[in-house]
Amino acid sequence: MEQAEAQYAQAKLAQLKGQYHVDVLVDWGDSNQEWKPGLWTRVELDRLHDSIALVANTMGETTNFIRNLGGVTVKKSDIGTHGGEALAHQVCFSTKGSFSAWTVVHEFGHAWDANYSWRLSRLLEKYTGGYTSPILSYLKQLAGLSDSGFLTPEKTPGRYGRRPGCNKAGYFYGDKPSGSNWSFNRVEDFAESVAMYLGWEKNNELSEHARNRIVRYQLKNGDKDAFNVIDNWMDYAQLFCPDNGDYAKTKRWQFVDDLVNGRINVD
Ligand SMILES: [Zn+2]
Repeated sequence: MEQAEAQYAQAKLAQLKGQYHVDVLVDWGDSNQEWKPGLWTRVELDRLHDSIALVANTMGETTNFIRNLGGVTVKKSDIGTHGGEALAHQVCFSTKGSFSAWTVVHEFGHAWDANYSWRLSRLLEKYTGGYTSPILSYLKQLAGLSDSGFLTPEKTPGRYGRRPGCNKAGYFYGDKPSGSNWSFNRVEDFAESVAMYLGWEKNNELSEHARNRIVRYQLKNGDKDAFNVIDNWMDYAQLFCPDNGDYAKTKRWQFVDDLVNGRINVD
């Protein structure tokens, strides 16, 4: 943050706090008569605010957002290779590089789930007909039915561990998620489903990303998708490509729609 932007930043922070009960930990300011810029930029504050507004608008009233999230502190910290991390009332973004609108929504999705003791992702798992079984996952790998290495992912086409249960968590997802890999589990599924729902067929900062998640299943084997991943996309179309390529036809879309419209009992 430049010194000249400090006033703007201050107003943005007050807005985030007042509208959404979101606190950003300030890492810029005067220090011994010298300006310390910190890691946050004005563009990032705007992006954070706009992305939170997107989530809040989807939930209806801002009071719904405040109740669902219960107040969140946002900071930048050294979290290794991850772009972001979240717990209840807390979202961290990496100090290495910037973050996207997708990452904001994804991490706030986690914070929402966490505020309900991770019940929302359990409800999603059940709603979509999935289950988590490390034992069945182990047996599937033992039987050579996995599209990953044995108890480990491989970064080669056809070996990312995208099939149900072929991941570290032993998560057998039901219906059709927009994708899966070795790190996939019901918690990641929930966060991704929220972001997909918000972006799908809209005209917002998430929409291109959401579309790119689905159109890649129309690529040929060996093609590179919009995220620079080469895979055997044709082999995976059956698992991930929704009816008529329309994500709104999936159980995940329906679940988030039910959730944000208060049709799911979360208590
Ligand atoms: Zn995540």
